[in-house]
Amino acid sequence: MNIKEQIEALREELRQHNYNYYTLDNPTISDYEFDMKLKDLQELEAKHPEFYDANSPTLRVGGEVTKNFETIVHENRMYSLDNSYSKEDLLDWEKRIKKLVDGDIQYTCELKYDGASISLTYENGELLRAVTRGDGFQGDNVTTNIKTIKTVPLKLKGNYPEKFDIRGEIVLPFEGFNKMNEERIAAGEEPYRNPRNTASGSLKLQDSAETAKRPLECLLYSIEGRNTGIETQFENLEKARAWGFKVPSDAKLSNSIDEVLEFVNYWDTARHDLPYETDGVVIKVNSLYQQQELGYTAKAPRWAMAYKFKAEQVSTKLNSISYQVGRTGAITPVANLEPVELAGTIVKRASLHNADQIEKLDIRVNDEVFVEKGGEIIPKIIAVDLSKRPEDSEPTQYITHCPECKTELVRTEGDAKHYCPNYNGCNPQVIGRIQHYISRKAMDIEGLGGETVALLVNARLISNYSDLYELKKEDVLPLERMAEKSADNLIAGIEASKQIPFERVLYAIGIRFVGETVAKKLAKHYKSIDALSFASIEDLISVDEIGEKIAESVVEFFSSKENYEVVNRLKSFGVQLELSAEVLANQTNKLEGSVFVVSGVFTQVSRNELKKLIEDNGGKVSSSISSKTSYLVAGDKMGPSKRAKAESLSIAIITEQDFLNMII
Ligand code: AMP
Ligand code: ZN
Repeated sequence: MNIKEQIEALREELRQHNYNYYTLDNPTISDYEFDMKLKDLQELEAKHPEFYDANSPTLRVGGEVTKNFETIVHENRMYSLDNSYSKEDLLDWEKRIKKLVDGDIQYTCELKYDGASISLTYENGELLRAVTRGDGFQGDNVTTNIKTIKTVPLKLKGNYPEKFDIRGEIVLPFEGFNKMNEERIAAGEEPYRNPRNTASGSLKLQDSAETAKRPLECLLYSIEGRNTGIETQFENLEKARAWGFKVPSDAKLSNSIDEVLEFVNYWDTARHDLPYETDGVVIKVNSLYQQQELGYTAKAPRWAMAYKFKAEQVSTKLNSISYQVGRTGAITPVANLEPVELAGTIVKRASLHNADQIEKLDIRVNDEVFVEKGGEIIPKIIAVDLSKRPEDSEPTQYITHCPECKTELVRTEGDAKHYCPNYNGCNPQVIGRIQHYISRKAMDIEGLGGETVALLVNARLISNYSDLYELKKEDVLPLERMAEKSADNLIAGIEASKQIPFERVLYAIGIRFVGETVAKKLAKHYKSIDALSFASIEDLISVDEIGEKIAESVVEFFSSKENYEVVNRLKSFGVQLELSAEVLANQTNKLEGSVFVVSGVFTQVSRNELKKLIEDNGGKVSSSISSKTSYLVAGDKMGPSKRAKAESLSIAIITEQDFLNMII
């Protein structure tokens, strides 16, 4: 054997031992022997740097330091999951999906591991990249840290696809977590609060040698991509296991919601014996073909559902109620609690939502209250322990004036919340609107953060978002913690935002009820802010999916003189207030008035591209066939019942090519 072969053989051997030890939990050599072999390999590699391999087992110990994690756009978006809490929720879900797919539905039930989600990309059987979920669209490249986790295979076994993404959860098992905390306490340090946050924090450590010391594990649950030749989720899990990934063996196939519930009920108690945290069950439609048929909502797959285990509860004392003012002027009451431990974290505050909620629960200061933590970060109060109420207790009087600017609050008919109407003079509203304007999904102004906005407003350098464009470097330099370089970045970031497309500007300017999706619809329909600002309520309502509430809010926004001026200023600075010529060129009205249902698999364009083409050409996409459907675009493998339904309603069934011909 020459040196190269020797190195390769050692690497292969160590890889197998790692796998036996960490993934199979079944070591076949002693730790000492393993360490000796690793040392041999380290020495050989040091002597022969020409045979470097980024995926060598020696690199598991870490050492590489990352200063800034690179942002990576996910090729397939990392969605969140819809939640359910009862049998009824699950039956409703089943009813919804049965309308959209043909045939019987099988479900895979998996545990919902509570850690940090991760997307791993493999190419030719080697780990290429590991990216955190981030906001679902883009995350951080944490490959160097992930490589130190022994259950992440650096090289795969068997017959794997040439390139694919696989998703999973990085968890910190209780045992390792407790050990880490014992060491911290012994060293006089504050213990970590819970395994989940510690796991996600571990991925963002700068020194990968630190990550290597943490007993993290990677549990896998889904393979992305279409060309893997796999047809079901259950098979997905088995394949991933065969390629060397750690896939927990508790997944189960179910033929009905009743069987799903059996699984849920079993694990509701049995999970307490698992070595890591779980917070529910994930139920997935087993057939990948049916999954594709079902597709996604704006937030989550239609083909999956999380079932949350019942949340833990504690009781504690309500010390006081404070009131927060949001960017829209909405008032949110917040409960300040006697700190108490709940599901691994210390809880000090809980949201009370609005005046009705306080009244309904009759919550009073000094009451003993029950606090529950669901999926949300902020826990909620679910009831008062009336047996412990002090005798002199008085009902809570909701505030009548803004805690920030003292203006009298208003509450319109049908609105749950109170509002501070002082649009231009109430500090949290002024700051909140600008913070919204610069936020990631809006203008995404790099180099400018929420805290700096508050400083700028408080220093009276800006009073609305259009003022940003007049800021000079000299203005911002005197601010707290503002160095030369960051001032340059800030100004450059503001300048760059002039290129952000119209639909995002429309979202950024913060018209009440105009979220991202509505902003897109309005931008597409009106094409410029001028046209939108002249639209009447009737006109707005005639736009698909725009209701009265939104229409009124848009008209109100543009009827304010201040808003009108601010928008004009944006225009004068060159912010994009109309669709670009490029976008307009790809849009037509050719399909106006037609409703399309898209079904099956396509060859020339993907399903999403097809939907976009329909919308760009003025058509409407609907997910189920009805008498309103104009065309059914039928791809390969379309289900027979869809075809039958379309035929019975005499709806035109067209091919992909027919469709493409319609828009040339
Ligand atoms: P949520 O963050 O509550 O919307 O839930 C979605 C997250 O659940 C995903 O991003 C995953 O990180 C996590 N998850 C844990 N276990 C699973 C599983 N078996 N299948 C899918 N997602 C899971
Ligand atoms: Zn106010």
